[in-house]
Amino acid sequence: MKKVFIETMGCQMNKSDTERMLGMLSNFGYEETKEPKKADLLMINTCSIRQLSEDKAFSMIGTWGKWKEEGKDIKIGFCGCVAQQKAETIFKRARYVDFVLGTHKIYSLPDIIKRVNNGEKVCECEETNTTEDDKASEYKINRVKSVNAWIPITEGCNNFCTYCIVPYTRGRERSRQPEVILKEAKDALSQGFKEITLLGQNVDSYGKDFKDKNYRLAQLLQDVNNLEGNFRIRFVTSYPTDITDELIETVVKLDKVCEYFHIPMQSGSSEVLKKMNRRYDRETYAKIVEKVRKMVPDVTITSDFIAGFPGETEEQFEETLTAIDEFELDYSNTAAYSPREKTVAAKWVDKYIDEDTKTERLARLNEKVRENCLKSNQKFVGREMEVLIENFENHKGQNIITGRTRNNKIVHIPCNKDLTGEFVNVKITGLKTWYLKGELI
Ligand code: SF4
Repeated sequence: MKKVFIETMGCQMNKSDTERMLGMLSNFGYEETKEPKKADLLMINTCSIRQLSEDKAFSMIGTWGKWKEEGKDIKIGFCGCVAQQKAETIFKRARYVDFVLGTHKIYSLPDIIKRVNNGEKVCECEETNTTEDDKASEYKINRVKSVNAWIPITEGCNNFCTYCIVPYTRGRERSRQPEVILKEAKDALSQGFKEITLLGQNVDSYGKDFKDKNYRLAQLLQDVNNLEGNFRIRFVTSYPTDITDELIETVVKLDKVCEYFHIPMQSGSSEVLKKMNRRYDRETYAKIVEKVRKMVPDVTITSDFIAGFPGETEEQFEETLTAIDEFELDYSNTAAYSPREKTVAAKWVDKYIDEDTKTERLARLNEKVRENCLKSNQKFVGREMEVLIENFENHKGQNIITGRTRNNKIVHIPCNKDLTGEFVNVKITGLKTWYLKGELI
């Protein structure tokens, strides 16, 4: 068997694409290796959210290129978001690359491999407006061994936030057909996965492009919930103003759907939100979070924030810090603003915030996130909670099982038995900043 190594950068969508590519390649006699030096085929699945990640990708394939120039018989593929954006120009920057594969055409991979093995250089980066659901059904998915299976339900995004590259790399929003999603969920459950996470840049707008306007995320959740077995369902990412009352009621009503919403706010300042082209202001976000908290008991709400967006004043940045407190956000992903080619905000060069200020704001933002995570964890000490175990390891001489509650809190539990994949009841006995401590009941 030939061996393939894939380096995956960036978000869960890229990781899901890698699982699909590995599935396709297994049909052509390739098995995965974790050691690049042992591979016949080396691929990098790139992310273009930040410049740093793009630079890292070119540096990594530079090393592979050297191996090739030294005479190693290997093929090199450049895939993912940077590939979609830069297409043929990749060959100019890295002449040893054999193929460039964008995010829209991952199901062309089998054909590309044949052509590359015949000595051709191939670039497949054409944009499509379909989800390639028909092709997806032909191949198995080589999922990473875990308790959770990620299943994309939408691809692309129509929102064009002024800082974001996604609409340019993943294209316009397309919803995958429910029957394909349900089949992938059933397959994952039959392979022993205990959690299904429905994935998309904006999952709440699932189905907006269907003829049947009545089949939306709430209906899909209902159908996944109807599948047999003891498992959990999650969905990420939610766009604040697309969260409907029907969706919140569905989360409450369905036993397998977990009490967890990831609702990126991005900035606590209404003026900055306007410049970001987000379709809500601080007050609207506040109302949405309040409603979710009121309707869903014990819900965890997480968010994303950017520090140092072009033109962001100190006062506006402080509004982000107060938003995290005011809305009691349980955890937030943070990043310093990074200009991305083609996006609107990247053109506002005269408004760029200097690197030192961005770094300083990001540090303060992270400190605020840390404080709030600790506060949020305190609410659960003394409670009994159901935990799905994800991991078993020896930590500083003690055997520990680690898992998540329904509301996505990480719990560490001393235990000498590997209970990975099992649901256990736990008494929460203590906490650290990023996790809870518990004991099996
Ligand atoms: S909604 Fe999310 S993915 Fe879409 S453009 Fe905005 S930040 Fe990017």
